[in-house]
Amino acid sequence: MNKAIQNALESMGDSSSIQKSKSISGGDINDALYIQTKEEEYFVKVNQQVPEHFFRVEAKGLSLIRDTKAIRVPEVYYYDEPRENEQAVLIMEWIKGQKEKDTEEQLGRGVAKMHQAYGEQFGFEEDTFIGSLPQPNQFVSDWTTYYHDYRLVPQFNMAAERGELPLERKTRLKKVMERLPQWLNHDVKPSLLHGDLWGGNWMSGPNGEPVLIDPSVFYGDHAFELAFTEVFGGYSEAFYRAYEEELSLPENYEDIKPLYQLYYLLAHLNLFGEAYAGSVDRILKRYVG
Ligand code: ADP
Repeated sequence: MNKAIQNALESMGDSSSIQKSKSISGGDINDALYIQTKEEEYFVKVNQQVPEHFFRVEAKGLSLIRDTKAIRVPEVYYYDEPRENEQAVLIMEWIKGQKEKDTEEQLGRGVAKMHQAYGEQFGFEEDTFIGSLPQPNQFVSDWTTYYHDYRLVPQFNMAAERGELPLERKTRLKKVMERLPQWLNHDVKPSLLHGDLWGGNWMSGPNGEPVLIDPSVFYGDHAFELAFTEVFGGYSEAFYRAYEEELSLPENYEDIKPLYQLYYLLAHLNLFGEAYAGSVDRILKRYVG
């Protein structure tokens, strides 16, 4: 057994022997494991290449979501902040359950309640990650400025560096970024957002209750989070119905949705390359021809 995990378990106060351990698939970034000791079952992530603070900000995000009491997240038992090139470990509650008839309805309601936990400004107090990409942050009083400066600009720069911005795409993207205030003109409050709510980042707990995992939290437009749920799907009608019963979306939601999806598609372009270029270009053309 990995020494770092063993040490982590001991420092948590579980020195009982590990009885079972198996790899879990599904994560993009870390090695994930199921570990069973004599006392408890755990979900463990380990990563050799992890940037500093990676697991600490994940734990912090989970804790902020937990504090809203809106929706369940796994308990975090241990994380460390290793120096560069050391293996990092995150240990949390093992979640196991099955989706029930009303799980997605609860999910919709829970996410909407979480979105009603408001911050004072937009953004976050420290840098986070989107997948393995750095997500710089700052608190900003204006949402559109935050979305432009801290969401789109970093992705634009990364894409330019990676050679993913041929001239036409670059020109269109610049135009869209310059003209954001023209479209994003609705009232926005700084909602606590999960920040990476694709369909793989929620699970069902033992009573069929939804559990959010792997957040990249910040305070922003709740419509931004909803727009992301629609990029890859994985959410049912019941989810959206329950969400909107609890919290309504802006009237211009359908018009601004692709502008919000653009951020995630640019991040995917930066993470996975050209496969996402077509979706990025379609959005850009829709707004600036
Ligand atoms: P990564 O940070 O590498 O993307 P995830 O947090 O997405 O990893 O976790 C990888 C997979 O492990 C998820 O898709 C999910 O199936 C499973 N998983 C995540 N958290 C738990 C947990 N607390 N209990 C059980 N399984 C989990």
